[in-house]
Amino acid sequence: MTGRPCSKVACIDEAVSTLTYVYADSMAVLGPLSQTAEPHSYDLCARHAERLSAPKGWQVVRHVVLGSA
Ligand SMILES: [Zn+2]
Repeated sequence: MTGRPCSKVACIDEAVSTLTYVYADSMAVLGPLSQTAEPHSYDLCARHAERLSAPKGWQVVRHVVLGSA
């Protein structure tokens, strides 16, 4: 475990996925946790990744299956 925390303020959960904003295409891409921190990307825990909502006019692209049980 790398133990990277969720980037949401006041959230202490461990990050499980990385959100990257692609400004050129107005896309918020949610994928597996990246190995390195990149600009314009945010690490999110499962809870916040699930609740993710993109800004108006933006498209959310999910590369991971969340909450499969
Ligand atoms: Zn969180």
